[in-house]
Amino acid sequence: MRLLIWLILIYVGFKIVQGFLRQRVEGEQSLPPRGEETHRDPVCGVYVTEADAVVGRVEDKRLYFCSMACLEKYREQLENKS
Ligand SMILES: [Zn+2]
Repeated sequence: MRLLIWLILIYVGFKIVQGFLRQRVEGEQSLPPRGEETHRDPVCGVYVTEADAVVGRVEDKRLYFCSMACLEKYREQLENKS
């Protein structure tokens, strides 16, 4: 009988620790990257950090692209519109 009580206690303790660890991992993942502002590439929709982005000035607006290819694609689209 005693052994069964110990097994239940160990099982419950294990579950509590598991839940605690899972909460911690989720908490860390939901934190935004520190000190890094992200911008959305208007061409492919990818989020890029300011450090990694290709900055394009289009009509006095600063736009952030993931690559030069996307910047050029965006400029082509603008030219086609006008
Ligand atoms: Zn892109």
